[in-house]
Amino acid sequence: MVAWQDPTTGNAWIGRPGAGEDTAGPSDDARRILLVEDDVRFAHSLHRLLSGSGYEVSMAHTGGTALGLLSDGSFHVAVVDMNLPDMSGHALIRAMHDRQLDTAAIVLSGDTHIDAAIQALRVGALDFVRKPAEPGLLLHSVRRAIRQRCLEREHREIQRRLHRSERLHRYLVDKSPDIIFMLDREARVFFVNSRLTDLLGLEPEAILGRHISQLVYEPDRERARYIFNASKLTDASRHTLEVRLRSVSAPKGYLHFELVLCAATPDEDDHDGPIDEEHYYLVARDITARQDAEERARFHANHDALTGLPNRNLFRDRLTLALVQARRSRERLAVLFLNVDRFKSVNDLYGHAGADELLSLISTRIQRCLRGGDTLARFGGDEFLLLNTGVLDSEEVLAVVGRINAELAEPFSIGDKQVYLSVSAGIALYPEHGEDAEALVRHAKVALYHGRITGSSSQTFFMPEMGASRDHRVNLEHDLRQALEADEFELYYQPQMGLRDRHFRGVEALIRWNHPRLGLLPPAEFLPLAEETGHIAEVGDWVIRTALKTLHRWEGRGIAPARMAINISPRHLEQADFVERFMRWVREYQVSPGRLEIELTENLFIRDPGAMVQKLQDLAAQGVRIAIDDFGTQYSSLSYLQTFPIHTLKIDKSFVWEIDRENRQHAIIMAIISIAHSLGLNLVAEGVETEAQLKFLHTHACDEIQGYLVSRPLSETDLEQILKNQRQPMPLTP
Ligand code: C2E
Ligand code: MG
Ligand code: MG
Repeated sequence: MVAWQDPTTGNAWIGRPGAGEDTAGPSDDARRILLVEDDVRFAHSLHRLLSGSGYEVSMAHTGGTALGLLSDGSFHVAVVDMNLPDMSGHALIRAMHDRQLDTAAIVLSGDTHIDAAIQALRVGALDFVRKPAEPGLLLHSVRRAIRQRCLEREHREIQRRLHRSERLHRYLVDKSPDIIFMLDREARVFFVNSRLTDLLGLEPEAILGRHISQLVYEPDRERARYIFNASKLTDASRHTLEVRLRSVSAPKGYLHFELVLCAATPDEDDHDGPIDEEHYYLVARDITARQDAEERARFHANHDALTGLPNRNLFRDRLTLALVQARRSRERLAVLFLNVDRFKSVNDLYGHAGADELLSLISTRIQRCLRGGDTLARFGGDEFLLLNTGVLDSEEVLAVVGRINAELAEPFSIGDKQVYLSVSAGIALYPEHGEDAEALVRHAKVALYHGRITGSSSQTFFMPEMGASRDHRVNLEHDLRQALEADEFELYYQPQMGLRDRHFRGVEALIRWNHPRLGLLPPAEFLPLAEETGHIAEVGDWVIRTALKTLHRWEGRGIAPARMAINISPRHLEQADFVERFMRWVREYQVSPGRLEIELTENLFIRDPGAMVQKLQDLAAQGVRIAIDDFGTQYSSLSYLQTFPIHTLKIDKSFVWEIDRENRQHAIIMAIISIAHSLGLNLVAEGVETEAQLKFLHTHACDEIQGYLVSRPLSETDLEQILKNQRQPMPLTP
């Protein structure tokens, strides 16, 4: 192996002898001379002379023999007689020249004419020595010929290596995976390698002599100006930048590159190089594959794999940005926590694949209902988050939920089956329900679960009393499991009063939790949790049995109210043996079913109308009354009022509270009253707190009221005072 360093570039490499290297030809140590002379005596005397001077001498007596010996190129010098028996010395030298033999020829001739010498030199001889040769002259000539041959050989070797070095450099530049540019001080391209064409689909002429920034993809030009600025190019420092370059051949019209720009000054002593002024070396490396991979990774980090929707991380980012904007422009926004109703049963029925397919379809349909600035995200499972910006009022948000449910109303086809779906929404508004993203999402979720528990299917706005912090929740969940055993629940009873005679009509049983640390908790603080964690049926069973037991005791004492209303959670009612269990306990406690009214919320009817209608009919057939609670707040459809055996409508307190205010809610409450009357239903107004509300309800012939004006929910002992006086008109407590 031979290590070789290019004297001009300083680059070095190792070459293998024989790999394209010319190893033929004599080395400097073995200086070989061929004597071509037919005069044998003369030849021998020359032989003695030359070998005596240290040369290795061979002899040939004819031109033909000489050519044969010379053909291996191992002789430095051939001393050639002009007159050979088979050819002239001229002819031999010409033949050597024609065969490009690397051997110097010295002509020996008796001819004294200068013409003969010139002729010999013309055909390629290096020197001319007259016969009979003067030994000193001949030796001098031979020595000179050998030195010259060596110099030529060395020169040729350097040329060959330079050529190879240049080829190697050209190869490196041309085959480089990067585009390599040379720029002048004004950032104009004066050299570019062939990768330009492969990667950008451009011929070099398109950019040679032009400013490099013309290659930069338009949106990135501003950024690229940072390094291609004329003033920056005088800076000798190194710049690195990631930009997109326009590419005719790339599908997107650009590729991502990492650019490295170096200022390079020509070498002091390299005056012959191609670069004679300050120049710049720019390497553009295609990093599109890496960028794409990063982009994909970013996408996956921020999107849901199933639906392609933003995930909760991206949602939080968008919401945080939207909040900054909303704060600045004093706008409202809404966060909706959406949950697909009855999705669990879809999962059970169609398996995971079917459920996944359905979730994708649902997300597509919901997306159709969105406006430009809205963001829909998948929170997980069958839960979605929706961000509504620039919201004017709650009506507008309700309209969005309405639109979504209208869009979902069309049945979904899974295999050969049809599925009917709807979503429930918990809604938190900025600024009233939370100032930051975390709080808004949490509150929307709380509202959703609260809505579900209290029965609302479609939409529930957050209320501060719903909001329990997460830690609090974790603790509560833990405590809830023990609450039943520890006998911490308690039933309160709120009286209902007839409006015409102000007489006591009945009570509604309302659960409370005597929490050992937190005190008396209202249902909103733990029922949603019981619902979520699957404890609702146990808790509900406890409520039913306690209410029946109490009623039984009151009956025994002769003070039982005419009616006891019990709230039933939809999840609880959904249990297959609910009716059977309920009636078994009714018999067990010997309570007359006619005194019992169960309160249900409207969303129950869109959950699974078929199964529900049967259960309610069974209960009604045995004398139990059915009331629709919070009527008007959710899925209010008149058709179910006719399909189901319903006895009582309870107007939600939100409508009652609107009575004092002068707005269109009046129309709703009047409509509810007339519906109840036309269907012959008992009508109870909830949440009556003022005389004005009472007066309005009385004037419009509402049957009963329930509210703080009459009484707050009372403990069993407190209520017994009222029960004892129930034949008297009830006093009002403003
Ligand atoms: P609901 O069935 O609509 O019960 C009426 C709620 O309004 C009760 O709240 C009651 O305390 C409250 N209320 C009554 N009059 C007034 C008034 O004049 N002003 C105001 N501001 N509020 C009044 P509570 O007891 O906190 O119960 C909330 C909800 O929790 C109930 O709404 C019901 O949906 C549910 N719930 C209560 N007990 C049970 C239960 O045993 N089982 C089930 N499944 N749900 C229950
Ligand atoms: Mg109720
Ligand atoms: Mg109610």
